[in-house]
Amino acid sequence: GFSCGIVGLPNVGKSTLFNALLQSAKAQSANYPFCTIEPNVGVVEVPDQRLYHIAQKERSKKITPTFIEFWDIAGLVRNASKGEGLGNQFLANIREVDAIVQVLRCFEDPDVVHVEGEVDPIRDAQIIDLELIAKDLETVERRLEKVQKMARLVDKKVKEELEHLEKIKAVLDRMEPLRRHKEELGEETIEYAKKTLFLLSIKPIMYVANVGEKDLPEGNEWSEKVKAYAEQESAPVVVMCAKLEADLIGLESQEKLELLKAYGLEEPGLNKLIREGYRLLGLITFFTAGEKETRAWTIKKGTKAPQAAGKVHSDMERGFIAAEVINYEEYKNLPSLSKAKELGLVRLEGKDYVVQDGDIMYFRFNV
Ligand code: GDP
Repeated sequence: GFSCGIVGLPNVGKSTLFNALLQSAKAQSANYPFCTIEPNVGVVEVPDQRLYHIAQKERSKKITPTFIEFWDIAGLVRNASKGEGLGNQFLANIREVDAIVQVLRCFEDPDVVHVEGEVDPIRDAQIIDLELIAKDLETVERRLEKVQKMARLVDKKVKEELEHLEKIKAVLDRMEPLRRHKEELGEETIEYAKKTLFLLSIKPIMYVANVGEKDLPEGNEWSEKVKAYAEQESAPVVVMCAKLEADLIGLESQEKLELLKAYGLEEPGLNKLIREGYRLLGLITFFTAGEKETRAWTIKKGTKAPQAAGKVHSDMERGFIAAEVINYEEYKNLPSLSKAKELGLVRLEGKDYVVQDGDIMYFRFNV
């Protein structure tokens, strides 16, 4: 599965947020295969109203949503890269996730100690980044040493790698995260940083500005600063209150709606968080629909029809002939799929078709 790692300094609200995520996932998923792989990993449903609308129209007996993983990576502190407070272990956990969700404390509370003295989310973000950068530098320097020895062999591949490493090191030496300097690095060096060295500061990131209840729904001065900071790297920001999310758990849906409304919110912040995380991972959803089951499927943006079919069943990819497709945006105005077919609104697409978010698909294949 695809995963987001939740990181942040101590006492910013990570566990409050993570537990709310787990609890709400459990509550929602009575009928679905919810599981907690490990205590610090939660598999949560991607909230998507479209799935339920389709299932209703098609009178489906079963509804299967799609899921993403959240990892609670607690314990990052200043100097983690130097081994402070088991820091290295937590940094190693970040290596395994596909994207980073950084929780930033934007709430004031005299009862909650701030490890850095006073509230300052930008400073906090920079502390975490410095740890990612220090760890990346360590990885790069170790690799560089090896490759420099090999470079004497005048191998073209080795030379290429050396060039990648030097470009990467130039950014890290300025104490800058790689994700902020993609143009300087170039496509191939980015691929190398991601897929060969598994560096941390190249991973996509989003920020959660954790504000106090009284600052909902818009946020406060601190969350505005976070937005400006995040914009420099085109990173998404979700403004939410972890404590309120925790309070919402266990309420009946009517009570929940009322409480949300009292704070000027249309839906739980968790929904926004999950959807933004999904987008950050470059994922989109297509649907298969019918009386037996309506189901959401996750694919990477840019996936073609046969590979999408392969998600449903490997036989469908192998024997792929064509896909019958209608997008949800068109379908939503119609009473059913059979009506859409009757009206000639279902298209037939071939093996080069790039699947779009919201496509409802039926695959034709040879067995
Ligand atoms: P972690 O160390 O980052 O996992 O932080 P916790 O989730 O354990 O939260 C630390 C403390 O901050 C706890 O006492 C929480 O109840 C409190 N807290 C978390 N989120 C909020 C919030 O949005 N507002 C306020 N006032 N307190 C919060």
